[in-house]
Amino acid sequence: MNKVSIIIPVYCEEEVIQECYRRITTVFENLNDKYNHEIIFVNDGSTDRSFEILAEISREDERVKIISFSRNFGHQAAVTAGLKYAEGDAVVIMDADLQDPPEVIPEMLKEWENGYEVIYGKRKIREGESKFKLLTAKAFYSTINKLSDVEIPKNTGDFRLVDRKVVDVINTLPEHNKFLRGLFSWVGFKQYAYEYERKKRFSGESKYPLGKMLKLASDGIISFSTKPLKIIGGIGIISVFISIIILIYTILSFIFKWNNLTAGWTSLMCTMTFLGGVILISFWMMGEYIARIYDETKGRPQYIIDKKINL
Ligand code: UDP
Ligand code: MG
Repeated sequence: MNKVSIIIPVYCEEEVIQECYRRITTVFENLNDKYNHEIIFVNDGSTDRSFEILAEISREDERVKIISFSRNFGHQAAVTAGLKYAEGDAVVIMDADLQDPPEVIPEMLKEWENGYEVIYGKRKIREGESKFKLLTAKAFYSTINKLSDVEIPKNTGDFRLVDRKVVDVINTLPEHNKFLRGLFSWVGFKQYAYEYERKKRFSGESKYPLGKMLKLASDGIISFSTKPLKIIGGIGIISVFISIIILIYTILSFIFKWNNLTAGWTSLMCTMTFLGGVILISFWMMGEYIARIYDETKGRPQYIIDKKINL
């Protein structure tokens, strides 16, 4: 019998865990135990009662496994840890808040049986999400698809079902800052876009404030594209051209006395500020890459596990 692993990152979700567990179990019961399943909850340093609730569930049901981090390492790190420990022939990644309905898992499993290896959830409708979130998400996907060499499908998150083969590949990738939805697209294999309706959060609030969202976006862009580094070159060349024109103009105006000295001051200031800006932007861009290189060379793990249950 095939085994299905479900990986669920959890950060302060005490209000939704029980319901999440109940709905997933029901889904597998309704499949008449066609598959074995395990649920791996990755507690990402929750500060509420999430861990206690999870520990309680895992005491009664040994199919429920828990990895608990020593602090909050972020959603991507939590999923990465789950992938390392998942034993299933198929692995589902989903959020705890039930925005990705577990009831669609059987449909995804059907596509998996049909031979697809990555079945990613594509959001047809997104209920209860702010205009701001929708707008920033759209801007992010169009930017990353323009900049990077790998196509990352729009309107997809981390909700997906992947074959063992793909999980093994992802697990052997050495990078520390894993941007999973990019990597799942980058590895290739037979991909299938499964359209579903993204629901409202079951309870509680989003654990993705703007800061975390920006971090995810910049990790995504920087780990999948070096174009920003090249754009700097373009800006630099343009600015050098503009300054040459200004230089010629200044020399001519000196020779032919078009202007007095105070006028020269204006152009000087323009060039200085403009070039200063370009240089600072360039340094910042390079800094972002160097910071990532630094992070990777340190070789620190993406997460630290404190406790494990049923594993
Ligand atoms: N999450 C996590 N660590 C974090 C932030 C979020 O493990 O630092 C989990 C969270 O518990 C949820 C999933 O990641 O299961 C998605 O988070 P959320 O629903 O808050 O994000 P949104 O749907 O608003 O983008
Ligand atoms: Mg959510």
